[in-house]
Amino acid sequence: MRWRTSLAILAVAAGSTGVTTAQSRPQDVVAQLADDQAIMATIERLRVDEPRLIEEQVRLCEIPAPPFAEEARGRALHRAFEELGLGDVRTDAVGNVLGTRPGAGSGPHLVFTAHLDTVFPAETDVSVRREGAVLHGPGIADDCRGLAVILGVIRALQDGNHATDGPITFVGTVGEEGLGDLRGVKHLFAEELAGQIDRFISVDGTRLGATHVAVGSKRYRVTYKGPGGHSFGAFGLVSPVHALGRAIQRIARFEVPENPKTTFNVGRVGGGTSINSIAFESWMEVDMRSADTASLARLDAMFHEAVEAALRAENNRGTGDAELTVDVDLVGDRPAGNTPEESPIVIRAAAVADVLGIDFSLGEGSTDSNIAMSIGIPALTIGGGGIGRDAHSLRESFDTTESWLGTQRAFLLALALSAE
Ligand SMILES: [Zn+2]
Repeated sequence: MRWRTSLAILAVAAGSTGVTTAQSRPQDVVAQLADDQAIMATIERLRVDEPRLIEEQVRLCEIPAPPFAEEARGRALHRAFEELGLGDVRTDAVGNVLGTRPGAGSGPHLVFTAHLDTVFPAETDVSVRREGAVLHGPGIADDCRGLAVILGVIRALQDGNHATDGPITFVGTVGEEGLGDLRGVKHLFAEELAGQIDRFISVDGTRLGATHVAVGSKRYRVTYKGPGGHSFGAFGLVSPVHALGRAIQRIARFEVPENPKTTFNVGRVGGGTSINSIAFESWMEVDMRSADTASLARLDAMFHEAVEAALRAENNRGTGDAELTVDVDLVGDRPAGNTPEESPIVIRAAAVADVLGIDFSLGEGSTDSNIAMSIGIPALTIGGGGIGRDAHSLRESFDTTESWLGTQRAFLLALALSAE
């Protein structure tokens, strides 16, 4: 993840633009919250209660949640939602765990999420080891930190009896990572909460930044197939491996914009059975990314043309009747999008950071917020505080130093975004 500080937003948060009235400035909502003694008392209590939250983070993390098998961790979250007194606690058709805290008024419906799944296979040892302020364990930061933070936010709202204008639905999503392909959040927007989400926050990972640009991606597995044969005896027969080489040569020559950064990569290749056989099959896995929908679509079209052109070229060269075929399987599809820097939720997020005395920075990433941003629903992905290191590796760690700032920020943001 890359971060960059946005001075423009900080300037707007400080009210220096002078173009909006005091009444309408979105940061004033945050100023009102900061003037509320009860809210500031809860913020202080979150700092004191942080060790308890860390216990919950460890407990959730020690329940395995491999890709496509998040049920056990989901059940624990389901119980926690019930114990905290959320309403309508449920596990939906794909495994997302939801619970709602009703609003006191007619404000927007805020959806506040963290993801249940990890990248680690079922047999991974997920026990957590402590070393001073640092916790070590696969998934301890990404995204057990996010899950702990949403529990902290719910408890703070409940214990402090803080009414919000609009309802907040808290969700542990499935399938955020890798080939999970955002299946949990896609289901949320298409089915479970279709048409009901006004604002969206994902707590993913650590530190105190925010992601307002969703990098989209398309991933494919391409397989060329033919009859195969002897390298000498059947010479002239169409070759899936040669077709693959032709396709990669074309892909390697793609020209893409530098800004918005648009990328392509053939990550894995395979096929063939022996040095003296014409292969009957070859395959490659291709990943393409851009924060710009149009650039990604152009790249996608170039990719399909390259795959087809390689097929035609190899079939034209082959002698005899045999022809190759190609299967192109979409294995990842994450839409691009963004929440504009001048949108009220970004301005409120900057004002929240200001109240807590933390630096506010904006960046880009590929997270559950991609789906919200791609359909124009105001969304941010925020870090959960603390310092995560070596995510997606067995060495993953979470430094708890001042991690309460992440919980405080999430709490204040939840209040700020559930107000009109
Ligand atoms: Zn994550």
